[in-house]
Amino acid sequence: MRVVLAQPRGFCAGVERAIEIVERALEKYGPPIYVRHEIVHNRHVVESLRERGAIFVDHLADVPRGSVVVFSAHGVSPEIRSEAKERDLRAIDATCPLVTKVHLEAIRYAKEGYSIILIGHEDHDEVIGTLGEAPERIVVVDSVEEVERLELPDPDKVAYLTQTTLSVDDTRDVIEALRRKFPKIVGPSRDDICYATQNRQTAVKRLVDDVDVLLVIGAANSSNAKRLVEVAQTAGTQAYLINDVGDIRPEWLQGAARVGITAGASTPEILVSQAVATLRTEGVKVREVHVVEEDVRFALPQELTQTARDRGLTLPERTAMRRSI
Ligand code: SF4
Repeated sequence: MRVVLAQPRGFCAGVERAIEIVERALEKYGPPIYVRHEIVHNRHVVESLRERGAIFVDHLADVPRGSVVVFSAHGVSPEIRSEAKERDLRAIDATCPLVTKVHLEAIRYAKEGYSIILIGHEDHDEVIGTLGEAPERIVVVDSVEEVERLELPDPDKVAYLTQTTLSVDDTRDVIEALRRKFPKIVGPSRDDICYATQNRQTAVKRLVDDVDVLLVIGAANSSNAKRLVEVAQTAGTQAYLINDVGDIRPEWLQGAARVGITAGASTPEILVSQAVATLRTEGVKVREVHVVEEDVRFALPQELTQTARDRGLTLPERTAMRRSI
């Protein structure tokens, strides 16, 4: 058997930053630190932070007044920010800067009087947060069929935005449908799908011809991990989403001479290493399909920068520019 690893895979800059924020907040303020929702969509990450004193809550009402609360990488609506203020909470924002960019675009288009079409999954935390910026102006769609059914007050004043973790190919189809239906539509120069999502999908596309089956390590509620499975399946390769090595079913690998492995943007590398170690019996060769070097890093919130420096961590003063493929 041969094992082929996709590169890049696993943690993106937004996830690394969010985890770093909770760790440094625990250090600076001491436990407990409250975190609204999962800081990133990965059970292993959440459990490890919980062991160190993070308490994950669904509602701010569950956070005692005056406590420190961290908002997750997926972002929150203005309503949640106001609620934190009303409850006298010290809020630290771990929203990924690439999600914040989409929020800012939504605010700008809403101010300019546009109807905004947000391409994304309506039950995802990121979409709920973005929608909250201008609920009366934003409509969420996630398919070409939904675009066909859209009725807007002024078809000449329409803008679109996208969730950051979508399928690049599906989103292109939806944007084309929008352009056909609303020829004057405005939007970002391409889409808002983030560099990490794009790079991981490109790596899977490069890898699928070389493997009989692909294992994607990631959580069932991780949008970008689910998209990696879809990308492989669309290309005709069997692909399975697993939380960790314990989910691998022997029948998936029966007769497979080449097994591909990748991981979603919120999956720690240790889970990949464990999967490789399990598959790596004598004579099994492991190689990587390398698509792009990622060198993106995001600055921490000001209040945690010194704590990080005290730990000897070198951090960018500003958010680094992405390297695109
Ligand atoms: S997947 Fe993209 S948008 Fe989401 S946290 Fe990572 S870099 Fe940010």
